[in-house]
Amino acid sequence: MKCPTCGSHDTHVIDTVRDPGGNIRRRRVCRACGRRFNTIERVVDSTPLVVKRSGRRESFNRDKILEGIRIACAKRPVAAEDIERLVSQVESRVLAMNKSEVAAREIGDLVLQGLRELDEVAYIRYAIVYLNLKDLESVKREIERLLSER
Ligand SMILES: [Zn+2]
Repeated sequence: MKCPTCGSHDTHVIDTVRDPGGNIRRRRVCRACGRRFNTIERVVDSTPLVVKRSGRRESFNRDKILEGIRIACAKRPVAAEDIERLVSQVESRVLAMNKSEVAAREIGDLVLQGLRELDEVAYIRYAIVYLNLKDLESVKREIERLLSER
């Protein structure tokens, strides 16, 4: 945070309070010139719309991603907290794109990247749905790709 007086970035938070409007208010002091000032942080709704393959748009739904991953991980040795962490990771990456619309496929790819590290069987299950693998031949190719990249 830049000092409004001298422009130094060397500022320090003295205290943080939540005001009645739900905003985060911080009192800061500049280490360079001693100027005290306040900043307010507001939560903005920046969740993008998800564009489906059909072109239909729907709001970003964390629970839906969680559900998809849970189904892929059913009866696999994947800890609930690992699934939770993956969903949070996907969510924060999607938010970091800072776009108003994100393709469902992009989200699916992020999930796949994470699942690959967690559990290969869960990865394949998810891939069958999200990469739209229609037959055994394409599933086999995906498994071979996975094995070759080990
Ligand atoms: Zn200053």
